[in-house]
Amino acid sequence: MSPEPLPLALYVHMPWCVRKCPYCDFNSHVRPAAGIPEHAYVAALLDDLEFGARDCAGRALVSIFFGGGTPSLFSAGSIESILRRATTLFDPAEEFEVTLEANPGTVERGRFAEYRDAGVNRVSLGAQSFDARQLAALGRIHSRDETIKAASELHAAGLHNFNLDLMYGLPRQTIAEALADVDLALMGRVPGRDEADRAATADPLVREPLTDNPHVIIAWPGHPLAGQAAIPPIELRHEAFVQREAGSGTRAMLDQFLRLHRIEPPERLTVFGNEMAKHAVMSQLGISLTSAHTLSLELGTGALVRLDVEYTPIMRRWYVVHHGERWLPPAATAFRDYLLTDGARKVEAATRRLLSAG
Ligand code: SF4
Repeated sequence: MSPEPLPLALYVHMPWCVRKCPYCDFNSHVRPAAGIPEHAYVAALLDDLEFGARDCAGRALVSIFFGGGTPSLFSAGSIESILRRATTLFDPAEEFEVTLEANPGTVERGRFAEYRDAGVNRVSLGAQSFDARQLAALGRIHSRDETIKAASELHAAGLHNFNLDLMYGLPRQTIAEALADVDLALMGRVPGRDEADRAATADPLVREPLTDNPHVIIAWPGHPLAGQAAIPPIELRHEAFVQREAGSGTRAMLDQFLRLHRIEPPERLTVFGNEMAKHAVMSQLGISLTSAHTLSLELGTGALVRLDVEYTPIMRRWYVVHHGERWLPPAATAFRDYLLTDGARKVEAATRRLLSAG
C-alpha cells in the first residue's frame, strides 16, 4: 500500500518593502521609485507555480503563506490571481489557511476587506513593539497607534484570525517593557507611559500602573463544575454564557477567551452591567466572566462561586490616568499619591482575599 501523499504548504515570497529595516537580513529590497514590478512578478510566480505543480500531484494544499518583504504592498487583485491559480493546480484542503504578512504602516483603511474578499483568511501583522523608541531604533515605518488601528481594522473586516509579531531582547529593552508589549498585544491594555514616550507619541495622557484587576469565571453554587480543580477551558463548551454588552472591556476579554480556546457556547445572553450579569448567573441562566472586584459580597456569602478554570484569572490592570500637561491640583495630587501607595496596597490585599475565597 503506498503511503498517503504529504499535504502541501505553499510559501510565496514578495521581496519588496517601503524601507529596509537596519536589522533585516531577509531577502527584501527597497521598493523602486518607479513602483514594484507587480504584474511581471506575479506572472513569474504563476509560471513557477505551474512548473512546481508537476512534482506535487495528488497532494492536498493546506496553506499558503504570503511572506516578505511586505506582501501588503501588493494589491488584493494580485493576491487573488495567485490564489486562483494555486487552487486550480492543487486541491485545497477543507480547512485551507491563507496568510498574508502585513506591515501596519502599509495597509490603508479598507484594504483588509479587499484581501479578505480575495481569499485571505489569516493575517500576520508585523507589530514588533508598541514602544515608540524601539520602533524608531528598529527603523520601522509604523507607530504603535497604527498597529492598534490595523488590529481593529482587521476585526472590522472580519479577519479575527491574525497574529501580531513581537520582537524581544531589543537593545536596552527592559523585561517590563517587553511584558508591556505582550500585555498590549494580548489584552489591548494600555501600558504606562513615561515622559519620553508621551512626548514621542504626542499623547497628553499619563498612565500610571496601579494594580491587577483579575477577571474570573463565576457560576451558581450548585453548578456541576463548582469545586472542581483546574477545569480545562474546553469543558465549558456546553455552557451558556452571560456576557456584557458589546464595547465593554469584559466582553472583549470573554470574546478573546472563547476564541482562543475554540469554544462556541450554545447560548450567549447579553446583559448591561456587572449587577445584571451577577443576578443572571444567580438565576442559573449561564456562567460569566466578571471582574473579581465586583464580587466581594457574592463570593464572601457564597451566593456565587468562582470556577477554577485553567488560564484564569485573566489579569487586566488598573491605571491612574491624568493629563500630563495640566497642573494637578493639590487634592488630585493627594488622591493620586494615595491610590499609588495605600490604595494600591488595599486593592492588592482585597484581590488576594477574593481569589482565595472563590
Ligand atoms: S519590513 Fe520586514 S522584510 Fe521589510 S525590511 Fe523590515 S524587517 Fe525586512
